[in-house]
Formats: sequence, C-alpha cells, structure tokens
Amino acid sequence: MITYDDELQTLLDEEEARQKSVLRLIPSENIVSDGVREALGSVLVNKYSEGYPGKRYYQGQAVLDKVERLAQSRAKALFGAEHANVQSYSGSPANMAVYMALCAPGDTIIGLGLNSGGHLTHGRNVNFSGKLYNAQPIEVNPETEALDYDEIERQCIEAKPKVMFIGTTSYSRAFDFARLRDIADKCGAYLVADIAHVAGLVAAGVYPSPVPYADAVTMTTHKTLRGPRGGMILCKEKHAKAIDRTVFPGIQGGPHMNQVAALAVALKEAATDDFKAYSRQIVDNAQCLAQCLVDRGLRIVSGGTDCHLMVVDLRAKSVDGKTAAIALEESGIVCNFNAIPYDPNPPMRPSGIRLGTPSITTRGLKTEHMPQVADWIVRVLDHIDDPSIRAGIADEVRQFLAQFPYNH
Ligand SMILES: *Cc1c(COP(=O)(O)O)cnc(C)c1O
Repeated sequence: MITYDDELQTLLDEEEARQKSVLRLIPSENIVSDGVREALGSVLVNKYSEGYPGKRYYQGQAVLDKVERLAQSRAKALFGAEHANVQSYSGSPANMAVYMALCAPGDTIIGLGLNSGGHLTHGRNVNFSGKLYNAQPIEVNPETEALDYDEIERQCIEAKPKVMFIGTTSYSRAFDFARLRDIADKCGAYLVADIAHVAGLVAAGVYPSPVPYADAVTMTTHKTLRGPRGGMILCKEKHAKAIDRTVFPGIQGGPHMNQVAALAVALKEAATDDFKAYSRQIVDNAQCLAQCLVDRGLRIVSGGTDCHLMVVDLRAKSVDGKTAAIALEESGIVCNFNAIPYDPNPPMRPSGIRLGTPSITTRGLKTEHMPQVADWIVRVLDHIDDPSIRAGIADEVRQFLAQFPYNH
C-alpha cells in the first residue's frame, strides 16, 4: 500500500480489480507468483551492478554476484544451455544484443514476416532490425498457413543470410528446429531462435527446444515463463563473450538486479513438477478452446495450435478484429486484434483476433471450462451490435472468475 499517494494507490487498486474480474486471453501476459513480486520489490532495486559477476564497475557486489550467478546457473540447468545472459532489460534488447554479436549493419537477415507471426525485431522496417540490416521476410504457405521448410531452404540458399532469426508472436505451430539448423548450415547462417512466447512451454518440455540446435536462443521472461518483465539469452559457449559484450557495454548500462532476482525465483518455479503440469494444461486448454471455437463456426489459422495461442479468423462472422476486440473487452474478455496470413484487411482493422491461455490457466481454468469461454466469445461476435449482451456477459465472467484465486 502506498499510503502517502492515494492518487496512485487508487489507480493500482482499480487495475488489480480489473485484472481479477476479466478473462485475460492476451497470450503474452501472465500472472506472476507472490515470490516473483517480492523479489521485484526487494532492496536489490537500490543497487547498481554494471558488469558481470567478478568483473563489476561498482563496489558492494558480494551478494549481487551470487544472485546473478544463481539466476545464470538455474537458467542453464533448466534449458540445458552452455551459457546464459540474464541481464537484458526485455525481449527486444535481448534480440538487439544477439544481432550485434552475430552480424554487422548491412548484412542480410531472415525472419518471419509480421502477418506470418514474426516479431517487429525480426526485420520490420519500422524497427532497428529492418533499418540496420537487409531483412528478407519469410512467409507461411498460403494454403496450410504453416511454414514450408523446403521453401525456406530455397529462399535461404538464394539470400545467403548471415543470421536466421526465427521466432513468433502469433504462429501456433511447433517449429522444426533440427530442420532449421540443417538449413542454416546449408546457407552458412547463424541460427537464432526467439522463444519469447513459448519459453515456459520449452522449459516444461511440452514444446520443442531449440537449445541443442541454435547458436543463440532469446526470450522474454514474462510470457509463458511467468517471471518478471525482462529478457534472457542462452547461447553456445563460443558466442558467450561476444553476446555478453553486446548486452553490456554494447547496449545497456547497469542491469536491473531486482529483475534478475525475480527471474531466479521464476526459474526455480519453472523447474518444478507443478510448472510442468501447468504448462501441459496451458496447451490442453488452448487446443480445447480452439476446437470449441471451430465447433461454433470459426476458423483457426493453420487449423489449430501446438502451443498456448491461436489466431482466430473472424470473417465467417463478418466482424473485423478490432471491432471484435473492443466488443470483447466490454464483455470482460481481453484479447488483441491480429492479422491473419495474407490478410486482405489493413493492419489496424485486420481479420483476426489472437487468443492465448497462459493467464487463465494460472487462474486455474481447465479444459472443462473452455466450452463456456468459447460460448461467451461467440455470443459477443453473434450480437456485435447489442450492448446489453456485452454487459450481461461481463457480469457472468466476473461472477465465474470469483471462484478462481488470483495470487499464487
Ligand atoms: C514479446 C516478444 C518480443 C519482445 O519482447 P519485449 O519484452 O516486449 O521487448 C520479442 N520477440 C518475440 C517473438 C516476442 O513475442
């Protein structure tokens, strides 16, 4: 409680009430444990630690060196990695550090296009990755809406990229990392896997791990990994020095050591059987929700999901993604509008919405609840011009969620 700042405390209370009373289906969001929040609010927030354990630029690091080494060793053990850098402020700076370590401005890079599921940092023209590098997008197959590895191989052999930067924010299918390694070797590229979204699923073993195959693996720590907002890089020992040097002093100054401590907590949690069961449940819930939506006449991009998220094509309901996302929020269901591959509609009014199950699975929802979730979504879409339907569903959602705890 911030007793001397009523104005801000009121806002925090409002946001807490909102988070507890709505179905949060944004796949990049989650609910961290009380332990993670305690570490974030710990005295470590008061300390500067530029450099790495044993090589700092400020005194007073005896404890912080141990904290950072703890996070590193937990990360390496959990993912089976040779080296871990736990200092990236978030996913985008982690990606920037890896680009800077593995290639130079002007070099060719390959990443998934935005409508195929790629992230801004995989070569979009509005992002540093598209401005500094010669970015060549790869797209999913228009029919299957899945990656066509033969086509990627053909494209990579022609483009000869220095780096293949492979990861997604909305592609719902598992990657074939062994095949991508093979393609990278054939075209002489470094392979980087950006597992920002699926990091927790990879840690739990319910989604394929790129760690044995990729030169480097980047991730956010706040999505399915359920840790503090932040980024992390795993890499082969041969890239460790270069990547450490681009994180600090290349891009960043002092690490946020409270965030590093909170990451250590999250990594300990992610090594438990409870977390494995949680991750399995995330995928079960997503697959069940996808099937329930299909049963109600909607189409899932690529036909389904192998992970925690899906993109729903809304054209059968004659509603665009933005209109749907706003109506759903008024109904207590929070998601985001999203393009479908080769979307005929403009980016601000795309044809789809993106849904994910990490947060609702943390609340405790199981597959038995997915038909209800799908029913609410479809009712909103089927009565898109009826505000009373939305208010009624928002109430139903609030009452339903009251039985599920928020803190854990
Ligand atoms: C979320 C995400 C990022 C960026 O993470 P930020 O922490 O928002 O900078 C990078 N890559 C992918 C694939 C992501 O989904």
